[in-house]
Amino acid sequence: MKAIEELTSFVEYTINELSVDFARSADIGIVLQVGDGIAKIYGLENVASGELLEFEDGTVGIAISLELSHVAAVLMGQGLNIKQGSFVKGTGKIAQISVGEELLGRVVDPLVNPIDGKGKIITKETRLIESPAPGIIARQSVCEPLQTGIISIDSMIPIGRGQRELIIGDRQTGKTSIALDTIINQKTEEVICVYVAIGQKESTVSEAANILQLKGCLDYTCIVSASASYPATLQYLAPYTGATIAEYFMYKGKSTLVVYDDLTKQAQAYRQMSLILRRPPGREAFPGDIFYLHSRLLERAAKLNAKLGGGSMTALPIVETEAGDVSAYIPTNVISITDGQIFLSKELFNSGIKPAIDVGISVSRVGSAAQTKGMKQVAGKLKLELAQFAELESFSQFSSDLDKATLKQLARGQRLRELLKQPQNSPKSVEEQIGLIYAGTNGYLDLLPLSKISFFAESFRTYISTKNLGYLELVKKEKKLSNESETLLKQAIETVLKEI
Ligand code: ATP
Ligand code: MG
Repeated sequence: MKAIEELTSFVEYTINELSVDFARSADIGIVLQVGDGIAKIYGLENVASGELLEFEDGTVGIAISLELSHVAAVLMGQGLNIKQGSFVKGTGKIAQISVGEELLGRVVDPLVNPIDGKGKIITKETRLIESPAPGIIARQSVCEPLQTGIISIDSMIPIGRGQRELIIGDRQTGKTSIALDTIINQKTEEVICVYVAIGQKESTVSEAANILQLKGCLDYTCIVSASASYPATLQYLAPYTGATIAEYFMYKGKSTLVVYDDLTKQAQAYRQMSLILRRPPGREAFPGDIFYLHSRLLERAAKLNAKLGGGSMTALPIVETEAGDVSAYIPTNVISITDGQIFLSKELFNSGIKPAIDVGISVSRVGSAAQTKGMKQVAGKLKLELAQFAELESFSQFSSDLDKATLKQLARGQRLRELLKQPQNSPKSVEEQIGLIYAGTNGYLDLLPLSKISFFAESFRTYISTKNLGYLELVKKEKKLSNESETLLKQAIETVLKEI
């Protein structure tokens, strides 16, 4: 600090000597110190917090800390050519990015520069990266479902458009897979998706982009990537860029989905920035405003009222835990901000239950209001049977002679659990999910060997989509299970069971 003060007085002295007034002019400054993605600047007297700065070598920075003696700015690039004494210009613009339809199908960095080699992106509009969340009047409560295509989520932990649902779990438990499957399922739902990859390997991001391309889902998706090799400042900025892109479409009346993969890495990048800025560290060395970092991001998810076009932004933040510890700092913070969480368990994953969703401790606080009637009709029973099964299973491990009713209930539970297993990249439609849960909870599968359950699910899908279209169409139209569609469904299940 002393060195900075000395340098400041030296610069001041030189400026006075030379009678050059540039440091006192509205928007010119001189770099005092630069390193680790942060620059300390003297001058820039009229700069605003969050203003974009331009360095002599063309590097862009954002002023984030205005102090009496200097301004601290984060660099949005390597800034290798910035030297002590280089000039800095304030642009008068608060940090903003270009947005538009042109971003769909593209992979960009947090400053919306293309990184997919498909050429320049020319858009007409810009939006502030840090714009305030919609207020109370602008919103309406969550009323439309966001179908993930994953049977255990759509039935028991339903997500509504405009909701914020956390996906939390240890590393390698299938977090990214759930998010990507949800994006794939939006192909028929007309939801625009933004996938934000923070601090990931470039190979992982390119794999995700390839899957989306292969499934024909890139046309309605934009990928924002700040991979592990990017400066911490860009990793910190990436989620806000993603939210800004989604917001553009939301205010145009569209439904959007934004995935932040993952916020743990963003928090770590922010911690790095804060420590370099010498802000006081708190719990786990995170700075004091770490909660605000995530709350202001996730508050931007909303379901707008009809006057504003009825658009929505659904957020699926991802947080990584260590050894399933949800009481660490970042997990507890994000759990308290979001409207529920999908908890992925390493034990379930290792025992072959994939997706490894622990239904017992996963919740969705607002989504059930948006669940379709048909799904509600079958999901209640499923939840109950699974809860009873979980209790019974742990009990029955220790006893050898079980009565008939218990054995029956165990068999039912095992079949339901088998039914909820789902491979990657194979989302199921709501109608198909209703049919499968109906078959499981009404005992149609009780006598079927466990190994044949997945085969039944496959055959059922083919049957209702090729031979028995009546059921599919009726449920799609009525959005519930009426007497008529129930008869058709029973008939379909019985035929499929006979055939396999
Ligand atoms: P990381 O912590 O590295 O980000 P992650 O939690 O995002 O990992 P994924 O990358 O989605 O996990 O998945 C981990 C592995 O599990 C991958 O190899 C993936 O193929 C596999 N996997 C995920 N979901 C399923 C599934 N439903 N069925 C079969 N395999 C799956
Ligand atoms: Mg992942």
